[in-house]
Amino acid sequence: MKTLKSMRLHIGIFGKTNAGKSSFLNRITNQDVSIVSDIAGTTTDVVEKSMELLPVGPVNFLDTAGINDETILAEKRLEKTTKIINRTDIAVIVCDYKGIDDYEINLIKKLNALNIPYLIVINKNDIKRITTNKLDEIYNITDNVLITSVINDNDLVYKFKNFLIKLLPEDFVNPPKIVGDLIPPKSTVILVIPIDKEAPKGRIILPQVQTLRDLLDSDCLSYVVKESELKQALDNLKEPPALVVTDSQAFKSISEIVTKDIPLTSFSILFARLKGDLNAFKEGAKAIENLKDGDKVLILESCTHHAIEDDIGRVKIPNLLREKTGKNLIIENYAGHDFPDIKEYKLIIHCGACMTNRREILSRIIKANEAKIPITNYGITISYCLGILERAMNIFQK
Ligand code: SF4
Repeated sequence: MKTLKSMRLHIGIFGKTNAGKSSFLNRITNQDVSIVSDIAGTTTDVVEKSMELLPVGPVNFLDTAGINDETILAEKRLEKTTKIINRTDIAVIVCDYKGIDDYEINLIKKLNALNIPYLIVINKNDIKRITTNKLDEIYNITDNVLITSVINDNDLVYKFKNFLIKLLPEDFVNPPKIVGDLIPPKSTVILVIPIDKEAPKGRIILPQVQTLRDLLDSDCLSYVVKESELKQALDNLKEPPALVVTDSQAFKSISEIVTKDIPLTSFSILFARLKGDLNAFKEGAKAIENLKDGDKVLILESCTHHAIEDDIGRVKIPNLLREKTGKNLIIENYAGHDFPDIKEYKLIIHCGACMTNRREILSRIIKANEAKIPITNYGITISYCLGILERAMNIFQK
């Protein structure tokens, strides 16, 4: 089975039109992934390609549209390219013998602001060599420079992989645990999975599957039950479980069944740590207390699922916020990779983000911090509104 896209290393390929980005990607993947043409600007949209790039591992290439003209279309491309930066774990900036100018320098500034490592590929070495002055200019910015030609450099793939290995983010080399580091091996954990209208037919959702797999990898014993069987499961166990993990939406009823001596948290809070920054999200939830009439709250979901009648992001969390604050709030929802202008919002609430990579959520946290807008996530918001946040966070303090 293929590795999930959210768990792949995202490699963004950037550069001006006709610098050779698409030819570079086609050469690395050894496939015609991107349309290649001598007409500048052939790639008008983002092209994605997932593959196993041994020995690096599962990767997802994001080939961005080139930019260097002044048309409206170019503006749209620039917008899309900026969105791709937010999902990029390692950036590859392709230029040619003409070297770099303001475009690449601005791109590097954006990458630096988000702590994204990058490599500069100087392509078309077969046509003309870059001058020493231009090369020095690049080496003054970074040592990660690959001078090549996609046409005749036989070692290009080998050299590129070596740079990737050097730039790999720590959490790709040693992926963090979801839950296994919070409890000793051989512990028993109960996972509470409501099978309600929101549950997909015939399967369970990704955060639940991934948590279960993490428990198996950590030599733990997992007990998976619905809300209605939880009491029976607790009674059946000789010893209390080391942890109960519930769907956030059932937090209230579950917290009444699970006695206070048993640690309790939610899948969404586990994912707040895995995909984002638990402390930043916990801090962000405090802003709920200061919301006033007319304040705008932004709810972000990383996938565009079909909203149901009692949808968590569109109905349950807005209702909970209005109930908790007693204020007339304006709540807006965005889904997918769209990240609107956040200046006007007083709070951002993010879903568990199981369908995207950690880099995208960290980029959003950095942007929220820069704009001084508090950001939190679903599970933390729900437990905060129900007055059980401290209890739900206890397991992380051990
Ligand atoms: S809304 Fe968020 S947490 Fe829910 S399935 Fe989509 S990406 Fe995962």
